[in-house]
Amino acid sequence: MYKINLLVTQNVSTVLRTVSRNFVGFSMLPETHKMLKKTCKDFAEAELKPKAADIDKKHLYPKEQIKEMGKLGLMSIAVPESLGGSGLDYLAYAIALEEISRGCASAGVIMSVNNSLYLGPITKFGNKDQKDKYITPFTNGTKIGCFALSEPDNGSDAGAASTTAKLDGTNYVMNGTKSWITNGYESNAVILFATTDKTKKHKGISAFIVDKPTDGLSLGKKEDKLGIRGSSTCSLIFEDCKLPVENLLGEAGMGFKIAMMTLDDGRIGIAAQALGIAQASFECAIEYAAKRQAFGKPIIKLQTIQQKIADMALKLESSRLLTWQAAVTKDSGKPYTKEAAMAKLSASETSTFCTHQCIQILGGMGYITDMPAERHYRDARITEIYEGTSEIQRLIIAGSIIKEYSLN
Ligand SMILES: Cc1cc2nc3c(=O)[nH]c(=O)nc-3n(C[C@H](O)[C@H](O)[C@H](O)COP(=O)(O)OP(=O)(O)OC[C@H]3O[C@@H](n4cnc5c(N)ncnc54)[C@H](O)[C@@H]3O)c2cc1C
Repeated sequence: MYKINLLVTQNVSTVLRTVSRNFVGFSMLPETHKMLKKTCKDFAEAELKPKAADIDKKHLYPKEQIKEMGKLGLMSIAVPESLGGSGLDYLAYAIALEEISRGCASAGVIMSVNNSLYLGPITKFGNKDQKDKYITPFTNGTKIGCFALSEPDNGSDAGAASTTAKLDGTNYVMNGTKSWITNGYESNAVILFATTDKTKKHKGISAFIVDKPTDGLSLGKKEDKLGIRGSSTCSLIFEDCKLPVENLLGEAGMGFKIAMMTLDDGRIGIAAQALGIAQASFECAIEYAAKRQAFGKPIIKLQTIQQKIADMALKLESSRLLTWQAAVTKDSGKPYTKEAAMAKLSASETSTFCTHQCIQILGGMGYITDMPAERHYRDARITEIYEGTSEIQRLIIAGSIIKEYSLN
């Protein structure tokens, strides 16, 4: 099993100075991160890439692959070793998630949700009993978690949550519907956000940990999606679902804050997922362009194709640096909301751009399922939507800048 102790970001400044030489700045990473990247890349090449098309076509949850990822320590990268996790930092997480998503974007999102959205908030806000019960069994890929914030009527406006949690003796009674929940079908526990005091608006939202299955919790239909089709997405329907008070995460009224802090971490993960998809499409495009002949020479010799390749490389590398910067800023204990939003915005738009250009470079071959280009294109699109749309990322970035310059 691959588990390493990391001397946290000892080479942070070196990493951030990395620009040239090597496309991804690989040579300047700390040794531990290089080893992790290689392990993930080898795993993705052997176990994910060859199966990704089938997983996509048949909407298969990659159960065996997720278990293997658990054995490698990838399902709980930033969880302390004392709780069964890998005890690594967020730079390691971003690097690992990019490689996994380069092999299979569905495996990438499943890993991302378990790491950032499920284990993250319990690690940060859970008490000892909650950590023992809801972290350790979820670290090795056999059990996974999910995160239920969005509702049919409230996505971007998450503070308007209408799911309610009413205190009744020693139980909370939950009612309402959460929509679009990744890992909804396979998950064994849910981080749920519900309103405990409507008069306080977003300050009246609380976070809970819900076992799955639980009486009073049912699942909606599995959504038939454009991409990331190996991950399940569905509604969670709560009807007089009773939850012991011990399952409150943090204090009552802290839910919105927990959700927003969790999404800051999640966005670094989605940026990494987007980068992995973009990198896969980039490699697909240049390999094809080197082989495909037109007008008597490989199309990679055509300047128009070269310009596309240069634009893809430029966006990939700058987005990767933003993603690493966000991870390293988090690891250093400084505020990173703006950095995470920039990373997610840049990497997701890069992913859309690169996968689009990949299809263009492949021509007709880009449009059919014999090649992975069309899957990359479909997988990329969601990264601009979940964990905050691109429009919301721009609002977060602008809001941070207005605050930094004391313009409010
Ligand atoms: C495949 C998939 C998986 C998901 N997984 C999860 C999950 O695991 N857990 C979870 O809780 N949620 C999940 N989501 C939900 C996702 O986070 C939301 O879809 C997303 O936040 C957008 O919300 P919405 O769909 O309600 O769109 P809306 O909020 O209705 O937005 C519609 C459009 O309006 C724009 N808009 C809204 N408000 C503003 C504004 N103030 N300024 C400018 N533009 C604005 C948006 O950017 C968008 O373009 C998932 C969604 C999908 C599709």
